[in-house]
Amino acid sequence: MFRELEKRYIIEGGIVLLTPLHIGSGESSPETDSTIVRYNDGRPYIPGSSFKGVFRSTVERIAKALGSPFRTCTLFSQDECSERFKNALREKDKEDEILSIITTGKTKDGNDLGVGGPLCDTCHLFGFPYLGSRFFVDDLTPDSGYTEDREIRDGVGIDRDTGTAVEGVKYDYEVLPVNHTFNLRIAIENPNDKDLALAAIGLRELLDGTRIGGLTSRGTGRCKLEDKSEDSAKVSMIDFKGDKRKVAGYLLEGKIADEDKIGIKDFIKNSLKPFFPDIK
Ligand SMILES: [Zn+2]
Repeated sequence: MFRELEKRYIIEGGIVLLTPLHIGSGESSPETDSTIVRYNDGRPYIPGSSFKGVFRSTVERIAKALGSPFRTCTLFSQDECSERFKNALREKDKEDEILSIITTGKTKDGNDLGVGGPLCDTCHLFGFPYLGSRFFVDDLTPDSGYTEDREIRDGVGIDRDTGTAVEGVKYDYEVLPVNHTFNLRIAIENPNDKDLALAAIGLRELLDGTRIGGLTSRGTGRCKLEDKSEDSAKVSMIDFKGDKRKVAGYLLEGKIADEDKIGIKDFIKNSLKPFFPDIK
């Protein structure tokens, strides 16, 4: 968390289910062995933390493949950065000192702490234990067209140790049928150019589709970011240190100037282009 909030980007769009969704609540009911997560009023939702986890791992895998200038923790060892910085940041509580160590690998006085360079780019965007996230995803709620919908699917019992089907063991689980749309809202605070580029990579993948929730090996959870019309998925930017009239418009009326809103595909292109300077 930083003392000053200079800029905030807000990404909004609809996530449409292409195959049924199962995000288990960890509970059973009289109807099924495994219910999905729902609010008290019965509406299903996608936890923001689940969505962020999928988004982050997608970005990490691609950043890893791209290599320079993007640096990311090794896949499967997401706490590589926390291990590196653990000793250097022990008992440090001053924000500017912590920032100096994670952005340069050195103290403010230029003392090299042997941490092997700055924090990786994906931890910078998505957070690591000693520096909060700058990337926030709200719980995804069903859009206004949602009507009560439940479906129970039969599965076979799976032996947790061997991962194989267990004969004679019946197991069923609830899914939310296809074609429901969820409201996505992501906020990114004080991003640098690499943060925006990494977010753009995740959004590009999301336009193509991703899988979320449990039982995805059985085909559930495929979903994508909708971009049917110009403004169905858009990015808005608030610059609290910028034009005072715009800031007032936002603070007084909640308005964001039209020129500070951009369609999702243009945002992706603009954010990534500087990192591919040779491509016209
Ligand atoms: Zn990292």
